[in-house]
Amino acid sequence: MISSVSNYISNNRQCESKDTVAFGSTLKSVDSTTPADEYVSSSKITQKGNKNLLIALGGLTLSGLSLLVALKLGKSSQINKAMHAIDTKFADLFADIPKARKTFSKVFLRDISEAETVEMLNRYKEIEKLGVTASKDEYFKAIYNEAKNNYGLGSLPTEFKLSDKPFAGNSNILGFTDPLGDVHIRANLSKSEGFNTIHHELRHLKQRYYAYHYAPEEYVKASQPKNFDIPQEVFEHIFGSPMGKNGIPKAYLKFAENSAISTSNYCPASASTSGYFTQWAEKDAYKAGNDITNFFGIV
Ligand SMILES: [Zn+2]
Repeated sequence: MISSVSNYISNNRQCESKDTVAFGSTLKSVDSTTPADEYVSSSKITQKGNKNLLIALGGLTLSGLSLLVALKLGKSSQINKAMHAIDTKFADLFADIPKARKTFSKVFLRDISEAETVEMLNRYKEIEKLGVTASKDEYFKAIYNEAKNNYGLGSLPTEFKLSDKPFAGNSNILGFTDPLGDVHIRANLSKSEGFNTIHHELRHLKQRYYAYHYAPEEYVKASQPKNFDIPQEVFEHIFGSPMGKNGIPKAYLKFAENSAISTSNYCPASASTSGYFTQWAEKDAYKAGNDITNFFGIV
């Protein structure tokens, strides 16, 4: 049932339409020849010749080792350089806490204290460092967990899913958020695309959360896939008992209303490119994703 639901979503909820950048690198293999073999077979081995051969072999071994050491040193100096760049960048970000606090509060749409801002900066710094040495999957998962908590949605039983395959066969779709709140991201995204897309999609989750609480029946109705009848209890399990308009904090009421309207009338990119880009839900999510990516200078 879950995969069928996902299937429906993939075919009908094409929420993203950004160009993908091919990710890859070319590795040159080092060609190794052993002229010493030829030397042995074509020459009479004298004591002196043998000594020369040993010296030659020793030289070869040494140069091979030196190459390895040089490569390792090169790699570790690259890592050190990257770590140092992150330290320098974050020193600048820590120097302006009010700016960071304002950015976080707007992107994550909640009142974030000065102390929490500092903690958040520290965690993003650690994740960026993790991104230097860990796999991209690990980096994306760390970003997802961090951002989900920052949006105040950490307790929701929604998941993060990396996909090796294009969504609905369309490689321009970088990710989407399904009506049950799971965030799906292409595994081949660059680090900055992934960082941006994850924050973008979790902003959609924030929209969905408020859309559901603002007008639960409409949300459930609009989120029914064809040939499926997902009962309201399922959505309640995900988002909790509906707060209703009166239960939503005043500061977020307008956002909740816009979310409810836009989510119920969502226009997939497959239906209309201009409709997709101009709808409130997308403009809001693009702004959040771009603002946080630019703030951290993720390139
Ligand atoms: Zn979107």
